Amino acid sequence: MKLIRFGNPGSERPGLIDTDGAIRDVSSLVADYGPETLSPDLKNTLQAADLSALPKAPGDARIGPVVARVGHFIAIGLNYADHAAETGAAIPEEPIVFSKAPSSLCGPDDDVLLPKGSQKLDWEVELAAVIGKRCDYVEEKDALDHVFGYALCNDVSEREYQAERGGQWIKGKSAPTFGPLGPWLVTPDEIGDVQNLAMFLDVNGERMQTGNTSTMIFSVAAIISYLSRFMVLEPGDVITTGTPPGVGLGMKPPRFLKAGETMHLGIEGLGEQRQTVVAR
Ligand code: ZN
Repeated sequence: MKLIRFGNPGSERPGLIDTDGAIRDVSSLVADYGPETLSPDLKNTLQAADLSALPKAPGDARIGPVVARVGHFIAIGLNYADHAAETGAAIPEEPIVFSKAPSSLCGPDDDVLLPKGSQKLDWEVELAAVIGKRCDYVEEKDALDHVFGYALCNDVSEREYQAERGGQWIKGKSAPTFGPLGPWLVTPDEIGDVQNLAMFLDVNGERMQTGNTSTMIFSVAAIISYLSRFMVLEPGDVITTGTPPGVGLGMKPPRFLKAGETMHLGIEGLGEQRQTVVAR
């Protein structure tokens, strides 16, 4: 199943993609997709629904982030060996964990807002997992059973704020619109092997990132198990799992985004995003 949220920011409605690719409004079945509702029961409810009897969303509806009221938005740094190399960092021995503010989440095609005075805005195509069952000391072999679904994420980053202003990466990862998430929340049964998905990102139509989740250093299952030893993960929490090579920081010389530039990114089975950078 492909879950989607549509409507204006803050008043999105839950939807499901039908067999013709149209969005069906499922708000008569579930209030929204969030910590209170993401569960195995919700999957059963949606699977049993007669979508042909439900209203279609307007054809021009904005798409929102795939989940609302996110508690934790966790990210993994340098999780692709070739990306670690391009940034000059050593291969991590344990996952590098940082937070993004949940308020950075936005729709997949929303404008990305350039922070005031920002000179080092960068892109990162990533696979995100959305938790569907509480994780507290989950073993790696059981970890993927705790995933509700997967979504495409752009881990938008401001490299000066991240690395040159002291303290933790969260400062460079958290501005509004630094977390486009969607268009769909895809249930694992539709994905097959989550560790073999092709991914790409273009800037102004030029290919910058090409990768595959097969080259992750720590698998999605390993990451969830690892995190669950340090914190409890709850339904609706989002974990974005790192980016392949080709970010602006890794170029010689580094190349950063300016107002008016566009990003286009995608992961096999998870859809595509398109954003334009807009100055605040
Ligand atoms: Zn990232």
